[in-house]
Amino acid sequence: MERLQKVIAQAGIASRRKAEELIQQGSVKVNGKVVKELGTKVTRNDRIEVDGIQIEKEEPVYFMLYKPTGVISSVKDEKGRKAVTDFFPMVKERIFPIGRLDYDTSGLLLLTNDGEFANLLMHPRNEIEKVYIAKVKGIIDNEKVRKLQRGVILEDGKTAPAKVKVLGSDRKKETALVEITIHEGRNRQVRRMFEAVGCKVTKLKRERYAFLGLGALRPGDGRALTPHEVKQLR
Ligand code: URA
Repeated sequence: MERLQKVIAQAGIASRRKAEELIQQGSVKVNGKVVKELGTKVTRNDRIEVDGIQIEKEEPVYFMLYKPTGVISSVKDEKGRKAVTDFFPMVKERIFPIGRLDYDTSGLLLLTNDGEFANLLMHPRNEIEKVYIAKVKGIIDNEKVRKLQRGVILEDGKTAPAKVKVLGSDRKKETALVEITIHEGRNRQVRRMFEAVGCKVTKLKRERYAFLGLGALRPGDGRALTPHEVKQLR
C-alpha cells in the first residue's frame, strides 16, 4: 500500500506537491471514482487516472552505469546514436537518466524509473557532490586553482565554490590532470569553468556521485543500486 500522491509522483507525472494539488482539485480517479482525500492508500492493482489518463505503475528500479564516451544521456536519440538506456536491454521498466553527462564525458550516471527520486536528487537544494577528473590543455597555476575554488563567472551566473586538486601536470606539454568537485549541475559546467580560466577540457570523467563510486565497473557496465544505497541517497 502506498499513498496516492507518492504513486503519482513516482510515475514522473508531477512532484509530490503538484500531485497533492491534482488530487485536491479532483483530477485524480482511483478505479473510476474521483478521490480528493490526500493520503488515500492504493495498491498495485488499483487503476489510477490523472486527467483521464491512466498511469502505469512499475516497481521503482535504480541503476548506475559507467557511461562510456560517445553515448547520449537520454532514453532515445533521434539521430540513432547509442543512448544510456541501451546498456540495460534486460530492464523492462521505463528507466531514464538522472541528469546528464555530455556525449563526450564518461563516468557514473544513475538511471531510474522513479520520477520523484530523480527530482529529489536533481534539486539544487540537495547539493549532491559530484567528483570529476578533467584532463585539461593549458597551464593550471595556483591562481587559476583559487579562481575555480572561489567560483568563476559564467554566462548563467557565478559558480558555487568548488574543491580543486591538481593531480599532475606537464609544464612542457601544458597539460594537467585535475580533480574538481562541484555540487551544481549546470549544462557543460566543468568544461565551461575551465574555459573561464583559459583552459580546455580534453577528457572528462565523473568519478563519484554523492558517496557512490564506480568500483570495479568498466565503461559500459551497469549494476542495480542496493536498497541501502537508495535509502542513503534519499
Ligand atoms: N560538466 C561538464 O562539462 N560535462 C559533463 O558531462 C558533466 C559536468
